[in-house]
Amino acid sequence: MIASTARPYLTVPRLARIPWLIHGFGTRHWKLSDFRKRAGWENFKIVWLKQVHTDRVHFIEAAPNRRLQGDALATDEPGIFLIMKTADCLPVFLVDRSKRVIAAVHCGWRGTRHRILEHVVDGLHARYGCRPPSLLAALGPCIGAPCYEVGNDVRGEYRAAGLAEDVFRPIAGRPGKYLFDLREANRRQLIGAGLDARSVLDVPLCTHCDARLHSYRRDRDTTARLFNFIGRLP
Ligand SMILES: [Zn+2]
Repeated sequence: MIASTARPYLTVPRLARIPWLIHGFGTRHWKLSDFRKRAGWENFKIVWLKQVHTDRVHFIEAAPNRRLQGDALATDEPGIFLIMKTADCLPVFLVDRSKRVIAAVHCGWRGTRHRILEHVVDGLHARYGCRPPSLLAALGPCIGAPCYEVGNDVRGEYRAAGLAEDVFRPIAGRPGKYLFDLREANRRQLIGAGLDARSVLDVPLCTHCDARLHSYRRDRDTTARLFNFIGRLP
């Protein structure tokens, strides 16, 4: 999947062709104040969460007047931008084209271990009647497997949760250390939840390698975040 690079955020062509949808995976050049500067976007409400690495999903009917805690947002209401902030974690968008339902999800290793994407797909079905084979998903930039070293603790938690362990590749000469494929772990979770593999789209950039993107592991900056957004036009 080829992503546009000329803009301060990256888009997925199959989502960009949906006339009622706006979406983007932000680069470091895309700031919160930029949302107000785009023609036609001025009146969008912006909703983001205190992200806490859980599997908690919030279904939004109107912009809340307090900051909610959780790691996924879904809505069928137009005029609301769902925002997920990331800096190495994987941002995922889900779209039901016929029901005009959208979701944004924050998938770090903990949320993935808690099967957040499975819970979001189940929630979209329960709440809006979205059938998993009808959903499109887009996986944004995240830290790539060659750059994401983890220890036995992380692998052990995945094993305890009954998740596949072949997303961990041992590092030669470094016992107890693995390269973890966060993107693949989440891609499988979507397919396991009933999505068609051809409907799982990708912006396969590594935040750690690509200087346009924020990376917590590279920059050690606890505040810099990428703003990933999806919304329905009124
Ligand atoms: Zn990398």
